[in-house]
Amino acid sequence: SIYKDLSKIRSEFPVLHQKVNGGPLIYLDNAATTQKPLSVIHAVDEYYQCYNSNIHRGVHHLSQKATLAYEGSRVKIARFINARYSHEIIFNKGTTDGINMMAYCFNKKFLKKGDVVLISAMEHHANIVPWQIFGQENGVELRVVPIDASGELNMDAFRSMLNEKVKLVSVTYVSNTLGTVNPVKEIIKMAHRQNIPVLLDAAQAIAHMAIDVQELDVDFMVFSGHKMYGPTGIGVLYAKETWLEAMPPHQGGGDMIKEVTFERSTYNRLPYKFEAGTPAISSAIGLGVAVDYLEAIGMPEIAAYEHELTAHLIGSLTEIEELRLIGNAKNHAGAASFVISGHHNSDIGELLNQQGIAVRTGHHCTQPLMKIFNIKGTVRASLALYNTHTEIEDFISGLKNAISILKS
Ligand code: PMP
Repeated sequence: SIYKDLSKIRSEFPVLHQKVNGGPLIYLDNAATTQKPLSVIHAVDEYYQCYNSNIHRGVHHLSQKATLAYEGSRVKIARFINARYSHEIIFNKGTTDGINMMAYCFNKKFLKKGDVVLISAMEHHANIVPWQIFGQENGVELRVVPIDASGELNMDAFRSMLNEKVKLVSVTYVSNTLGTVNPVKEIIKMAHRQNIPVLLDAAQAIAHMAIDVQELDVDFMVFSGHKMYGPTGIGVLYAKETWLEAMPPHQGGGDMIKEVTFERSTYNRLPYKFEAGTPAISSAIGLGVAVDYLEAIGMPEIAAYEHELTAHLIGSLTEIEELRLIGNAKNHAGAASFVISGHHNSDIGELLNQQGIAVRTGHHCTQPLMKIFNIKGTVRASLALYNTHTEIEDFISGLKNAISILKS
């Protein structure tokens, strides 16, 4: 395995090699955003240094080069998730943008008063608020599948909530707060048995496991480039061709049209119908290079290694007496959340920061989930392919330090 030489992998991430508050940086905030390898940084830099140009319109050399790189990135991403066609990959700003786009487009074409969109209790605000904004005005109801104390989806409840009123199931693949991996294959199968399409929020899954959209038979999937070692400002909506053909565009402007008159316009073919205006060209190109990077290591290898790291992290956390793990799902990936009884999570975060350890504290954009666990927030440590077992040990001793400081 490539993980025999982890120091080589780490050497490709410049940010990791610095001191913070006197200690070597231990970056455990990967669920918020991952660091970028040199190949991605260089690709973005090269675009601006060598062929910065707008895409799709120029007859000139630079524009052709930029178009080839941008469209090449789309092809790489399609292959990465095994989409049938590259025009099923819609570039956008990220997961939030993707769900908002869905909430607008799907709602406009397929939802009416009394219809139901089914989400889960562990959704990120990005998979709650857009449905409220776009759905509420025409009377679309949001219903919430409950979770168990372990932070796992209650599948019996899910089964019983599927009925003819439900027009879309929109759930997260992996919880950004709990690290729960949902049984999405089963969810999709059950929904499809009643002809209900499924949207997956794969923001926290895409960097941690191989995803095959055809094998899952998922209808829609969204994710963010910056959480998979790519640049910010770029993300993807994957959707089956038939859905994309059926939905209206959410934005009008350049690139998305075939013909425009003052009276009416016709729309471009896929994927351009959903990509109005100049996109984040350099970020899209960088994302393609991030995909190259992940494929060179191998998603199965990454998943296996991170599985070990996660087991190490959770095993060590549960040995700490005052600690309450929030979410203890059997199938766990990426993130672990906890609270320390009697102490504010922000104090823990600050004391970790003083030792060069980066974690996130707070509600992690999952306020309704916090309410279910009857807490204000958690401390969250989240992993990436470049974290080490030594870092986990150092994090655990840093955490014990923090607890003893707070107690004294
Ligand atoms: N959904 C989940 C599960 C997430 O973890 C995040 C990012 N924290 C988002 C949606 C939103 O992603 P972005 O901020 O990149 O749009």
